[in-house]
Amino acid sequence: MITHEQCLYWDREDELKKFKDEFALPENVIYLDGNSLGARPKKSLEVAQHIIAKEWGEDLINSWNKADWWGLPTRLGDKVAQLIGAEKGEVVISDSTTLNLFKVLSAAVKIQAEKFPERKIIVAEKDAFPTDIYIIEGFIDLIHQGYQVELIDGTDDLSRVLAKDVAVVVLSHVNYRTGYFYDMESINQQIHAKDALIIWDLCHSVGAVPLGLNQSNSDFAIGCTYKYLNGGPGSPALLWVNRKHRDQFWQPLSGWWSHKKPFDMAQHYEPANSIRRYLCGTQPIISMSLIECGVDIFLQADMQQIREKSLKLTDLFIQLVQQECAQFGFELITPLNHKYRGSHVSYRHEFGYEIIQALIARGVIGDYREPEVLRFGITPLYLGFEDIWNAVQQLKQIMLNSEWKNERYLVRSEVT
Ligand SMILES: *Cc1c(COP(=O)(O)O)cnc(C)c1O
Repeated sequence: MITHEQCLYWDREDELKKFKDEFALPENVIYLDGNSLGARPKKSLEVAQHIIAKEWGEDLINSWNKADWWGLPTRLGDKVAQLIGAEKGEVVISDSTTLNLFKVLSAAVKIQAEKFPERKIIVAEKDAFPTDIYIIEGFIDLIHQGYQVELIDGTDDLSRVLAKDVAVVVLSHVNYRTGYFYDMESINQQIHAKDALIIWDLCHSVGAVPLGLNQSNSDFAIGCTYKYLNGGPGSPALLWVNRKHRDQFWQPLSGWWSHKKPFDMAQHYEPANSIRRYLCGTQPIISMSLIECGVDIFLQADMQQIREKSLKLTDLFIQLVQQECAQFGFELITPLNHKYRGSHVSYRHEFGYEIIQALIARGVIGDYREPEVLRFGITPLYLGFEDIWNAVQQLKQIMLNSEWKNERYLVRSEVT
């Protein structure tokens, strides 16, 4: 039996609790959606003000040099590299995860086509975040060279499909719906043993779990900065390429920012011999600048400690739902085994949508994903043990009082 007292005790012992003060969160809200849109670092307001009033307002165009706006994608990339087990010069921040997938997919397919022209299969998961599948489909349609997408059902299915002529595999390191967490190193070995290349989508793992892209010998990675890294709504995404692939190919969104000498204004394209070749055109500098606020907080914390606390909090959530809400029909779809669990907890429930709306009305913000999935993101830097206790107590009240049956919770918004 877990008690409120016990949760208070864990909060007192928590070595990461000081980080909560770095974030601006509304009163009376328990925010369990940091895996979808991270909370705002307090500092981002001051930084935004500085960029808008000083760098843009006063220094105007001089800021490309003076404030090094030009170098921002790689300067930030070098910081993010420390969170994903990469080196300086290997990461660039730019565009969106969706666009970055297009770039690295083109690179991976091109590299493979030169070595293994007969390989025409691109693998993704049925349960992938849809944008990944859509981009693969669009890419295949565009190049029109007989490629096919093959959708798999998870790890067991991966071995089945790898017996075929697979060129590239695209996987979400942590699944956005279930929270299933792949063992990166062993999956890479399995894929490389069949001469295929891997692209990791890190949207639900960067800032959530320790990552070792080089140590695990990955090929390409992309991921969001507005989820666990708290970069702000729509902040540009990360892109990492293993050094051995970097200069083998230039990606087809070959805009001037990726040119070797952009300010020569040359008539023909020549890619930069650096990670900048994965840029495209002018970047959203204000949005991008705010990413640093969240990343700097992570750089002061220890990713291993964050992971440990994340597992304690997700364990606590699961145990409390079992203890307090067992009779209400929530089916856990997140793995119990720590080895396969990311940093969110998901349940299936027939009335998941309505229950989430009722929770939000009570200040407990989680989200809903089709089909019938309630999703609770766990962000150890700004959530404590008592928050989890309180969230589950609110859930229990909603279920006991059948609050979710109120008809206003039936109305579906455009964004769920
Ligand atoms: C959130 C998410 C995305 C979003 O991509 P955008 O280009 O930022 O819209 C992509 N992949 C996964 C796995 C995600 O969870």
